[in-house]
This record gives sequence, structure tokens and C-alpha cells, in this order.
Amino acid sequence: MDNSGILIYAQLTREEYIHTVFYELVDKAKELSKKLGDVEVNAVVFCRVGLCETFRESFENKGLNKVYCFEDDRLKEYSTEYYSKLLVDLVGVIKPEILLIGATNQGRDLAPRVSCALGTGLTADCIELDINDKGQLAATRPTFGGQLMATILCKTYPQMATVRPNVFKINQEDNFYKTEIVSCPVNLSGVDCHVKLLEFKKTADTVINELDSAEIIVAGGKGLKNEKGFKLLKKFADKIGATVAASRAAVEMGLAPSTIQVGQTGKTVKPKVYIACGISGAIQHTVGMEGSTHIIAINNDENAPIFEIADTGIVGDVFEILTKYLD
Ligand SMILES: Cc1cc2nc3c(=O)[nH]c(=O)nc-3n(C[C@H](O)[C@H](O)[C@H](O)COP(=O)(O)OP(=O)(O)OC[C@H]3O[C@@H](n4cnc5c(N)ncnc54)[C@H](O)[C@@H]3O)c2cc1C
Repeated sequence: MDNSGILIYAQLTREEYIHTVFYELVDKAKELSKKLGDVEVNAVVFCRVGLCETFRESFENKGLNKVYCFEDDRLKEYSTEYYSKLLVDLVGVIKPEILLIGATNQGRDLAPRVSCALGTGLTADCIELDINDKGQLAATRPTFGGQLMATILCKTYPQMATVRPNVFKINQEDNFYKTEIVSCPVNLSGVDCHVKLLEFKKTADTVINELDSAEIIVAGGKGLKNEKGFKLLKKFADKIGATVAASRAAVEMGLAPSTIQVGQTGKTVKPKVYIACGISGAIQHTVGMEGSTHIIAINNDENAPIFEIADTGIVGDVFEILTKYLD
């Protein structure tokens, strides 16, 4: 195997910031690098002309060895064709042993295309990454509808994985390192870009972002029973300055929009306090919130699985408890 080092895709937001999932991946990659004998941790970024240098400080503070920078005004907007072609070309030249991409909408579009073009495996939506005793990437993700966790190895290189935002912690320490910014030639000849962005309309993403950064989340489940229950939940959330989330059962009952669903097929959140109200604690829900610093559960069934992961458990009727607090 002549592949070496870890390459991380640095996704940019529409506002031209580096997406936070990148920083989460860098800190995890550094742990992996140590286990691989301190291999290089590098990044790749695609952007409009002149933008890359503005990120130098962020890259250096994260202690990256090299950042491969593709600058071209055709790369200002994400393009499946352009980005995947350039990433595949880069991987062919630098031959990383691991390629990590955030499981954002963009990452979920880019990663399979790249893995397919490279003829390598991709473990998508991972919740843990490690290096096994043979030096291989051991990527863990939920499987069989979330009933099991599978640790998957890849026989080919680079070993690719996508990881959801908010799964790994960002290490707040500064790690200053003189990062080398490598300016890469943008060769897009022969690539047809089939999609042109005509207009961008913001949707419910604002709510999604609120959940991403919320310090306190109050989540409602089927135990809230109806719209009245969710109104009570919202009132309680407003009183304590919390953001509202929901279980899938609540979403399926039409009590909450799918944009605020937490769990395997929803968001992964990591607030300081997560208050689960009338939520049983199915694994498909808990994978999305178990990284919260403090979990409080309110449930009238003392055997509800949610109490197994709760730091504070309140056995009782959620309506009575929330109403009492609002009085
Ligand atoms: C492939 C797949 C993906 C999935 N993805 C997700 C996902 O992303 N997110 C997710 O949440 N689920 C997901 N699910 C569904 C998941 O398996 C559970 O069905 C769901 O999380 C249950 O939601 P719940 O806890 O609100 O409802 P329930 O499991 O019905 O629990 C309701 C709870 O409310 C309690 N309760 C009832 N009345 C009261 C009261 N008056 N006071 C206090 N407590 C009360 C009950 O004791 C019970 O524990 C997924 C399932 C599959 C198969």
C-alpha cells in the first residue's frame, strides 16, 4: 500500500465559512493519525478565486499539514461534476489512505460519486471512527434500521467515510502549525456541468441551524399525544429559552415538522441540556441526542429505555409536570 495520510474535505457554507463538521473531522483525524504513526492530516477546499488565503489562520489553528486549494470562479457554487472530478484527480496524485467527508447534504452527494469513480468503498453516516490493530479504518454506523451498530472495514484505498455534523467534539485548544497552502491547477476540460444554479431560496434551514447551535433543547414525543401537548411543550421551551425538537413518532403524527426530528433519520444534536418529554428512548432516537451534556427525561413509564441514558429522570405525567412549571 503506497497510500498515506488523511485527507479531509473542507466544505464551505453559502456564506463562505468553513462548515463546522470540518473542524470536528480534523480533531478526530488527528486522533487517527497518532494511531497510524503521526501521518499527515491534510485538507482540500474548492472556492472562488482569492478566498482560500482567508482561511489560512483557521487551517493553521487546527494544525493541518497541507491544504490543497482549488480556486476558480466556476467553483463558487457546489457542482457535483466539477467538485468530484477535481477531488478524484487530487486523490489520484496524493494517494491518501483515508478520505473523510461531512455527511451534510453536499457531502452525501459528493462522497458516493467520488468513491464510485475511485472504485473504493464508502461507509456513510458514521458515528465513530477508529484504527484497528491492523492499521485499518474501522468505521462504525447504525445498521438494520438502527438495531445494530456495524463496524465496517474497507479493502481498497482510500478508505472513505462520511460523518454527520455534531457527532464528534471540536477540540477548543489551539494547535498552531505552519500549514502549507498548495495551490492546485483547476483542470475541468471535458467535464460537463449539467446543473446551473438560477436562484437560491432559504427554507426551513434556519430552524435546523437553530437546533445545531441550541444550548437547551426540549424534545417532544408521542407521549405528548396531540397539538395541545406540543403547544404546552413550546410554551415551556419559550419560558426556559430552549429550542423545540421532536421524535419521529411525533413527526409522523403531524405534531412537528420533519426538519426538527432528532435521530438516525433526523438531526444529530449536542446541546448542554436535552429534555426528552414523552419519548421512549428508541435507539433510532438516542443516536441523535446521546452526545448531549445533560439529559433529562420525563416519562410516566419507569421502565422506559430513555431512563438508561438520562442523567436526571422524572417519572410522571408530562402534562402535569410541564403545567406545574408554567404556573
Ligand atoms: C429506519 C428507522 C429510522 C428511524 N429514525 C428515527 C429518528 O430519526 N428519530 C426518532 O425519534 N425515531 C426514529 N425511528 C423510530 C423509532 O424507532 C421510534 O419508533 C420513535 O423514536 C418513537 O418515538 P417516541 O419515543 O416519541 O414514541 P413511543 O416509542 O411511542 O414513546 C412514547 C413514550 O411516551 C410515554 N408517555 C405516554 N404518555 C405519557 C405521559 N402522559 N407522560 C409522560 N410520558 C408519557 C410512554 O411511556 C412512551 O415511553 C426510526 C425507526 C426506523 C425503523
